This record gives sequence, C-alpha cells and structure tokens, in this order.
Amino acid sequence: MMKSNEDVDTISLARFLEALYGSGLRATDPRLVEFSARLGNLTEDMVDRITFKNLVEPNIAIISRAFRRKFIIPDFTAFASRLDDIYNQCVNVTDGNVASYIPELAKADPNCWGYAMCTIDGQRHSLGNCTIPFTMQSCSKPLTYAIALEHLGADGVHQYVGQEPSGRIFNALALDIDNKPHNPMVNAGAILICSLLQNLVHFEMSFEQKLAYIMQHVQKAAGGEFLGYNDDVFLSEKCTGFRNYALAYLMKEQKCFPEMADVEEVLSLYFSTCCIESHCESMSVMAATLANGGICPITDEKVFSSATVRDVLSLMHSCGMYDYSGQFAFKVGLPAKSGVSGSLMLVIPNVMGLALWSPPIDRHGNSCRCLKFCELLLQEYNFHPYEHMGHATIKKRDPRMYSHHLQESTVLHLLFYAAAGDIGALRRHYLAGFDMSLGDYDGRTALHLAAAEGHLDCVKFLVEHCRVPCDPSDRWGHSPLDEAKGFQHPEVEQYLSTHLKNG
Ligand code: GLN
Repeated sequence: MMKSNEDVDTISLARFLEALYGSGLRATDPRLVEFSARLGNLTEDMVDRITFKNLVEPNIAIISRAFRRKFIIPDFTAFASRLDDIYNQCVNVTDGNVASYIPELAKADPNCWGYAMCTIDGQRHSLGNCTIPFTMQSCSKPLTYAIALEHLGADGVHQYVGQEPSGRIFNALALDIDNKPHNPMVNAGAILICSLLQNLVHFEMSFEQKLAYIMQHVQKAAGGEFLGYNDDVFLSEKCTGFRNYALAYLMKEQKCFPEMADVEEVLSLYFSTCCIESHCESMSVMAATLANGGICPITDEKVFSSATVRDVLSLMHSCGMYDYSGQFAFKVGLPAKSGVSGSLMLVIPNVMGLALWSPPIDRHGNSCRCLKFCELLLQEYNFHPYEHMGHATIKKRDPRMYSHHLQESTVLHLLFYAAAGDIGALRRHYLAGFDMSLGDYDGRTALHLAAAEGHLDCVKFLVEHCRVPCDPSDRWGHSPLDEAKGFQHPEVEQYLSTHLKNG
C-alpha cells in the first residue's frame, strides 16, 4: 500500500501503477481517462507530491476506492489467477464439434479458447483468445429481448411470447400450448422478438437504422467497446438457415407476429442480430451490465432498467442454455446464455459478468469448454444462489470478502457466546462446521473465555465435543486453566486440571 505521509517526498509511479492495476482497473477504463492522459505526459518514475496529487486528482474517487479495497472482489489478483487456473484446466476438454449448420461457422478454429471477466466495479481480467471477434449468435437473444422490454414492458412483450423452457433443441419446430413461441431465448422466440422490434419499436426507422439502433444499444451495454458485424455469416444464414424460415412461417400461420410484420424482413433482422460480432472482452462488459442491474460498470450509464434486467436474467436462468437449461440451473444455478459460435455469457448477479469462447459445441448447442469452466468455477466458489455459506459441508471460497475478515467476525462471535455462556449458540456454530479452537488477535479462544467466566457446561462442551486443545496460550501466556484459577472458578479449575492430567 502506498504511503502519503510527510516523510515520503517522492513516489514511484511504477509501484503505484502496479498496485492500481492489481485492483483490476485498467488504464483504458473510462473512469481513469484524465489520469491516464496525465500519466502519458510523465517520463520519470519518481514523482513529487504535487505532481502525484495533480495526477490522481481528477479521478480520485475511483482511485481511492481501489486503494481502500472497496471493490466487490477485494483480492482481485488472487481471484484472477484462480480463474486462469480453471481456464487452463479446460484446455484438456476436447469434446464437441464446431457448428456446421451454416458453412461460414464451420470455418471456426476449434482451438480458440478465451475468457474475460468484468466485475460490477469494472475490475477486468482476461486470458487466451479474448479479442478475436466471433458472431454473437444466440448470445444476442437476451439483449434483443432486453431492448424489446425497455420499449414495450413485460406485458407488452409477453402477450406474444412465453416464459417457459421449451425442453427442446434451440431451433425445434415447436410452439407452446398457446401457440406462442416458448421463450425469447430459443430461435422461435427471438425471431418473434425481432418482429416486435421491427414493427412496434420506432416503426419509422428503415431496416438499416433499426439494426444500427439495436447495435448501439448493445454497444452501450458493452461500455462502448468492440462490436462488429459479419456480413459473410449473415449471407450464409440467410441462404441456408431453412429451419429458421420454417419457424417463421409456422409462426406466421399461427398469427404469432404483430399484424403488419413482414416475415422476410423479420428473418433478416433476426439473422443480422445473430451476426453482430463481439469478443470475450466486450461481451464480459455486457454480462457485467446485466450483473449490475442494467448500469454499465465502466461508463456508469444506465443501459437497461432494473426491471428489464430482472426479467432477462430470470429467463436466462431457466431457458438460456437450450434443453440443457435445467441441468445447468442445477449445477451452476446462474443466468447464462450460449451461442452456436461457441460463446457463453455468464452473469453472477451483483458480482460480475463473464464471457467465455471456445467453438466446439455439444449436441445441445453449448460450448463444451465453456460448460466445463462454469462447473469448475462453481465447484470452487460459492456463487450458486442456493449455496449457504455458513452451513455448507464443503467449504467454498467467497472472493467477495477477505477470508480473514470472515474468520475474524466468526471468532468474535464465538468468544462472545463463550463469555456469555450461551451453549446453544456454541452448539449451533459447532454443528455448522466452524473451527471452535480459533483464537482472536490476542490468542484468546472460546475456551479461555468460558473458563474465565466460569461456564462449566461450555467448557465441557468445548473440550469433550469439539475437542479443542485444552491449554492454548494467549498473548500473555495464559491458559484456560490459569483463567479459571485467576477468576476463582474452582469447578472449572478442577475439571480442566483433571482433563489435562488425563491427557
Ligand atoms: N444463428 C443461429 C440460428 O439461428 C443462432 C442459434 C444459436 O446460437 N443457438 O440457428
């Protein structure tokens, strides 16, 4: 940590930057624009206090948060390196095949593998092929759905499309019991969403304007970062995506679309949204915007309302992984969306967004490596919404807090209960799997406190049930037996000395 006391006249920029970027902030972060520009003008490593003050002043809010460790993942470097390990473990996954239903996608390199993350505080990290563009394919579906929700509201949208998992492959020729598409995350539903965007949102716009409008919205969600468009894939989809034509005409026959919808135009818009390009870096920001209730973490712009985001995440959770959605919800429990180009957008609400990309996909249409990454991530971290931190039998990590903070607060509770003689609370902590022998900063343990206060039942419980060591020393060299003697609790003294004698 940098010091800025009177004794320090100069500061090393290299060391300062190492600490700043170690927090997960990037030099390109829009919240550091002035800082980064001023930094570019400095040539020396050691700068004086005035220069340093001038450098950080315009962006002091974000810089000071970084140094006070106020971001959602305080120890970002350690977390990022664990995720890199997971990434590396997934290199061994060689299952799946590159999508071949259209010629252009079949050209993808199966070895490409990248991931990027962006937290709700804009902490960034990535590894592998994270700036190679891919077409978003079905990963565009949550975003087009979000734009439709913003304009038409949930009721407006859902009179046309359901909220139920289809239980079928993504492009199944099937509608729900009301003859509506099942949900906006499968092809039929997304084509329907395009018909709403085409006909009920800014009807005055031309096709090109409408696509540009959608892309602008998506790019805002990506914090203004990379977004492209792949015309070759578009032509390929348009010439060979016959299943989507079949779906669209089935829906036309069933009167699913708004009256004035033109099927060919709707399909063109749908194919176009599939052909929007992004890469892991920019897609991770989109996912982070969704994790952050619709506010882009790096620009602070409100891109979607929180109600929109809630609806989008709900359907990503139940329908985002095609007919693997139920299993994914079971194993991972987080909202996600995959696309046939091998991308996967994973949202950890109120924490961060992740974008993963590896072209080989399984029979459901989900990327094999990306799935493995999600599973490994959830095996290690307690991101599953139904995972209980306190009572879990297998302890998982929580990168949102320092483990020593967590431990400190637990120890304080334990000591308090022991001192108060609350044996019920001690029992509950023990059953929940807490280490009952932990000591505080001064080396005081629950047994010290229970002995000092003369709570024989607590002492017995700690010794016999929890099997804590009987003679730990605190920083003054006092053992629980010393406490019992000093505070004149003969029963406890007797019990502890007998127990110590008997080993
Ligand atoms: N363009 C693809 C299609 O319409 C998108 C589907 C997907 O990514 N699962 O078939």
